[in-house]
Amino acid sequence: MILFGNTIKDELLLKLKEEFSKLSFIPQLVIIQIGQNPASSVYINQKKNMGLFLGVKVLHVLLHSEITEEEVLEVIENFNNDEETFGIIVQLPIPENLNKRKILDFIKPEKDLDGLGSIQSGFLVTKNKKVFIPATTKGILKILDYYKIETKGKNIVVVGRSNLVGLPTAINLINRDATVTICHSYTQNLEEITKKADILIVACGKPKFINKYFVNSKQTIIDVGIHRLEGGLCGDVDFDEIRDVVSNITPVPGGVGPLTVFSLFESLLDASKR
Ligand code: NAP
Repeated sequence: MILFGNTIKDELLLKLKEEFSKLSFIPQLVIIQIGQNPASSVYINQKKNMGLFLGVKVLHVLLHSEITEEEVLEVIENFNNDEETFGIIVQLPIPENLNKRKILDFIKPEKDLDGLGSIQSGFLVTKNKKVFIPATTKGILKILDYYKIETKGKNIVVVGRSNLVGLPTAINLINRDATVTICHSYTQNLEEITKKADILIVACGKPKFINKYFVNSKQTIIDVGIHRLEGGLCGDVDFDEIRDVVSNITPVPGGVGPLTVFSLFESLLDASKR
């Protein structure tokens, strides 16, 4: 079965819009972009469009790539103190000369919708109810839930351990009583490990990396990757090669991606209600 994220998003979007309309104010999401990474600009446009549809304010703050760390912190501080702003995200990647950790940690935890600051990451580990689960992880969980793919007691392999995707996804699945194996670039015999999974989640940032040698016929494959190649978009999984080999698989585009943007706004609603 093909696990379409778009279908789920379309079903949930009207309900989310209605929830926003019940608020007595219009919350603002601030997206801070530093430099003009073309992929980031595409993602930001998707967020702006969804914000427009949902009737919330999305403020895109574009800072030039030579900006100093102090100046970035000053911008964040302004929005930390702004009562209309309920969410602040820094679109990654940011220029290498800036201290990413310091910048992410400077966002007020109650406005840190991406959940990438140290406090929010701690909330995730300690199962604190105030946690904002990173949007991509939420998107992955929504797909599994919608298609009623059991995670409890299952053997789940996550390829990738980034703070953005792999690690929070793995922690959430452990919290859902799965047995989780996290693989990364130093993992040996990766094929042997991935083949044994009931659910294989791939976020390694390598186009079409997972092919028929990494999978088995009973598996569910969640492909988080997004790459622009000649001829269109593709994921970290070779979809055409394995779509008929495995039980379930997400497409790219139209799989995890649409639910990531949706989940961010769900977190904005959550922050606004708090
Ligand atoms: P990242 O920060 O580059 O992390 C990649 C991870 O994969 C790292 O942990 C790395 O290991 C591991 N890895 C790299 N090569 C590997 C290999 N040969 N075998 C096993 N593991 C390997 O990337 P990310 O931010 O997590 O993003 C991953 C992918 O998801 C990208 O394609 C990105 O575009 C996509 N993405 C999609 C969405 C969405 O909404 N669908 C959202 C965010 C990201 P080390 O830690 O050892 O380096």
